[in-house]
Amino acid sequence: ESALYVLATPIGNVCDLTLRALHVLSIVNAVACEDTRNTSHLLTRYGISQTLIAAHEHNEREAADKIIARLQQGERIALVSDAGTPAVSDPGARIVEAVRAAGLTVVPLPGASAAVTALSASGLVNDQFHFVGFLPNKSKQRETALLKLAQDPSTLVFYEAPHRIVETVDALLQAFGPQRQIVLARELTKLFESIHRCALADAPAWLAADANRQRGEFVILVEGATAGEDAVADADAERILQILLAELP
Ligand code: SAM
Repeated sequence: ESALYVLATPIGNVCDLTLRALHVLSIVNAVACEDTRNTSHLLTRYGISQTLIAAHEHNEREAADKIIARLQQGERIALVSDAGTPAVSDPGARIVEAVRAAGLTVVPLPGASAAVTALSASGLVNDQFHFVGFLPNKSKQRETALLKLAQDPSTLVFYEAPHRIVETVDALLQAFGPQRQIVLARELTKLFESIHRCALADAPAWLAADANRQRGEFVILVEGATAGEDAVADADAERILQILLAELP
């Protein structure tokens, strides 16, 4: 039966592809992917030969039209991103939206996601988390975004590119103060996986102590605001309000 299969792929370890995903990848008529080279590498690893459709952030609308036309012919199409779950800090959401709007079937295939993988091994005890994903590049916008999160009691989940980890950890320390726990989950499921937890105050020195600790892909988790922070939070409230008001059009 015709459907768009939104299919999670590994975030490092190629064995983290589910059996169901393998099966679906071998029976679909085509695979829509963020990067054809990357996806053909994964498929080759499993001896699967497939028609690939480029569906990246710059052509999502055209790709959606192409995929809808094929689904309307009764085809099955898989949608993958380079790593992990499509549409989570990755392209795919627009395609899913268009396919659903066209009244066609969307079937999710769960699998790896860096955020949930990091949370599961963090030891941070909190039933709530707030997935923030990538912070803005510009320091002013990043500061504003962090201030909005300062009183959030949920565990905060950030994605970060390798070259900005030191800068971002400094910004987190500035925004949230020294006491909260931070977890730096690096290269998850890969050869140099490391999951380091410490007080935010100690994180810059830990990163600086070894250049290898700054390399690779990171999920950053920060403990949510606790009741003890309320006094500080109240004192900061006026300052935060002024900064946020300055951002209003
Ligand atoms: N869709 C993906 C998912 O479901 O997790 C996320 C894609 S996003 C473009 C890439 C970011 O995810 C990286 O910059 C990093 O923050 C995080 N990430 C992906 N793979 C990772 C890994 N193996 N270890 C740590 N972080 C990872």
